[in-house]
Amino acid sequence: MNLIFLGAPGSGKGTQAEQVEKKFGIPAVSTGNMLREAVKNQTEAGLRAKSFMDAGDLVPDEVVIGILKDRIAEDDAKKGFILDGFPRTVQQAEALERMGVNIDKVINIHVEDEKITARMSGRRVCEDCGASYHIDYKPTKSDGVCDSCNGKAVLRDDDKPETVLFRLKTYHEKTAPLIDFYDKRGKLITVQGQEEIKDTTKLTFEAIEK
Ligand code: ADP
Ligand code: ZN
Repeated sequence: MNLIFLGAPGSGKGTQAEQVEKKFGIPAVSTGNMLREAVKNQTEAGLRAKSFMDAGDLVPDEVVIGILKDRIAEDDAKKGFILDGFPRTVQQAEALERMGVNIDKVINIHVEDEKITARMSGRRVCEDCGASYHIDYKPTKSDGVCDSCNGKAVLRDDDKPETVLFRLKTYHEKTAPLIDFYDKRGKLITVQGQEEIKDTTKLTFEAIEK
């Protein structure tokens, strides 16, 4: 089963992808996490991506497509995968089709912009393993410490309010057209993002099992 999670930054798609990974045993592949890792390790892709990410802008397609292609060729992705944060442009979606990857379902998590800006300031991400948290909705057991690896759970630079607005604008211009793209292919299921993570998870599982 190959799935795509669509949604604005802060819609909770990464959190839901992690839940689906646990339940269905297929890896969640987050291009955001992979890019942050590449920046940290100062790989060639990381060096190219950094300035775009800091500004809240999209990293050039060829950089992201390269990373994604290598990742889904790995052994653990043979039985299926969940794409979180890819594709983010129509060009990326077309590249995926050219790779011959068959997508079963596209889950679009819908949340109003106003809710998103309010939520983002509470987001925390583990510096070491990329696990995501929220100070109100999904707090770490111990303040600022990742539950799974004891790494530091921090506010991402690009979750600062000014950058969030720019990322939302970018989402509407470049990523939202994918809703139509996958709807035309009969793959789109929209899930309304709920206040509580577990309620969205329930709707998400229903959408996948339908
Ligand atoms: P969110 O979905 O919360 O915005 P991500 O962790 O998915 O955050 O992505 C963080 C940043 O990484 C993006 O703002 C962008 O700069 C870069 N990025 C991630 N995925 C892609 C992609 N598919 N194409 C281009 N840039 C990407
Ligand atoms: Zn961690």
